[in-house]
Amino acid sequence: MSGGDKLDFEIRPNPAPVSAADRAALLANPGFGRVFTDHMVTIRYADGKGWYDARVEARAPIPMDPAAAVLHYAQEIFEGLKAYRTGDGSVTMFRPEANAARFVASARRLAMPELPPETFLESLRRLVEIDREWIPEHEDGSLYLRPFMFASEVFLGVRPANEYLYCVIASPAGAYFAGGVKPVTVWVSPDYTRAAPGGTGAAKCGGNYATSLAAQAEAIEAGCDQVVFLDAVERRFVDELGGMNVFFVYDDGTVVTPPLSGTILPGITRDAILMLAGEAGHTVRESPVSFADWQADAASGRLREVFACGTAAVITPIGGVRFPDGEFLIGGGEPGRTTMALRQKLVDIQRGRTADPHHWVTRVL
Ligand SMILES: *Cc1c(COP(=O)(O)O)cnc(C)c1O
Repeated sequence: MSGGDKLDFEIRPNPAPVSAADRAALLANPGFGRVFTDHMVTIRYADGKGWYDARVEARAPIPMDPAAAVLHYAQEIFEGLKAYRTGDGSVTMFRPEANAARFVASARRLAMPELPPETFLESLRRLVEIDREWIPEHEDGSLYLRPFMFASEVFLGVRPANEYLYCVIASPAGAYFAGGVKPVTVWVSPDYTRAAPGGTGAAKCGGNYATSLAAQAEAIEAGCDQVVFLDAVERRFVDELGGMNVFFVYDDGTVVTPPLSGTILPGITRDAILMLAGEAGHTVRESPVSFADWQADAASGRLREVFACGTAAVITPIGGVRFPDGEFLIGGGEPGRTTMALRQKLVDIQRGRTADPHHWVTRVL
């Protein structure tokens, strides 16, 4: 990367965008991840040349050689964040610079080139600018942004590729919990782990998700919504869910989440909740939680609430836990008070409905 000089984006508006009427129909009930906007951002990278050919263009299939490295060795990383429409017509994002920094960290772990954070942020702003009509008006709606990067070099040798494509697409999202927040039941997988020490657990890469899918299928088979993974070494301590971090709330008000040990994805929602819980007067700890303690503390009543968190759903209460030898409920299977208060606080900050003392919300348009 030739440091310093700013990348110019070539803007090529979609010549055949979705009509306003069709867009309105799509936005009425977009669900998650099925509806996409008219445009995408692409930026190319080649060793020796750096980042080049930045474009905002019509969203379209990406032609790819069957020997493109990503199709064989899975050199791919991604991010996920939301753009919100505010009451005064401006557009905001929640801590996008944290996503930019994490994208750099993920790139390092996957031996990929680092996209400068200012280019990452500019790419998001450009896409939201041209597709701003796609941000749902609904007060629970948002435009989910999906930046990603993959090895595009045509080569079957095993080494870091020397050509990459960075891309951003956008997908309008409705209320995650239409009809009220509903607790989920999680499956504690006896067979599978998600990430080992020294592995890629702390990087946001597609490969982590690929390896979680068999466990997720097992969870569904067991009548659960999501899988929770235990540590890969002792199979004792709770790591996280397939795509969400996890928190425990005790009867003395203590809030605990597993520490960032290298096998857990450093969630931006997780980080915000640690801060907000402390400010709300909770004792906050990042420390290991064993599955044995989880069971025992749920049985004794000491453990009052458990929830999962991440950008897509913000906070999801966990009402039930299943494992091969049995199952138990948390808080009678109902969403807990602390869970819902933290959720409300965070959503209100994200939506600009309450003070934002940490300057987490960035106005982008
Ligand atoms: C993205 C992700 C999270 C949540 O991160 P946020 O920044 O809060 O969205 C948690 N776990 C995994 C495995 C993830 O990929």
